[in-house]
Amino acid sequence: MTREDVLPFAERLWARIERGSNGECWRWLSWHDADGYAGWRVMGAPSRRPQRLIYALERGEFDNALVIDHLCRNRWCVNPWHMEPVTGVENVLRGVGPAATHARETHCKRGHPFTEENTYPNHNGRGCRACKREKQNAPGYRARANEMRRRRRRAARTYDEPEAA
Ligand SMILES: [Zn+2]
Ligand SMILES: [Zn+2]
Repeated sequence: MTREDVLPFAERLWARIERGSNGECWRWLSWHDADGYAGWRVMGAPSRRPQRLIYALERGEFDNALVIDHLCRNRWCVNPWHMEPVTGVENVLRGVGPAATHARETHCKRGHPFTEENTYPNHNGRGCRACKREKQNAPGYRARANEMRRRRRRAARTYDEPEAA
């Protein structure tokens, strides 16, 4: 779709956008679909995806066979300078957010493979057992752990002591 296809709807589109500079995210003020992407239902409009309409309007045209990859990762953002039209396959491969990136990694930061035996669940999603082992065997680790335990015990004792009269 070209800019000309969208022009008749331009005014209604802009009325629903909190427009900022090209570097800022532009918030879509109308409804969003269940996935959090901007949506629009206007009879006769060449697309129901306002981000596509805005893209065509501001950048000349949009190839309807492509999907939009949000470079800023804000699904509600309709700033056409934060969008890159890509094929559906590309979009999946690129993944979204650190979770997808993390899941694609096959080795930990220090090069140990993320095999089933070498992986345990932690707050980041998964941790590397080899790294954990190395950390625990590192010189000074036991002494530091003992010191921490002593401090915790001392703190608990202080807390339990009745206040002096
Ligand atoms: Zn944005
Ligand atoms: Zn590791």
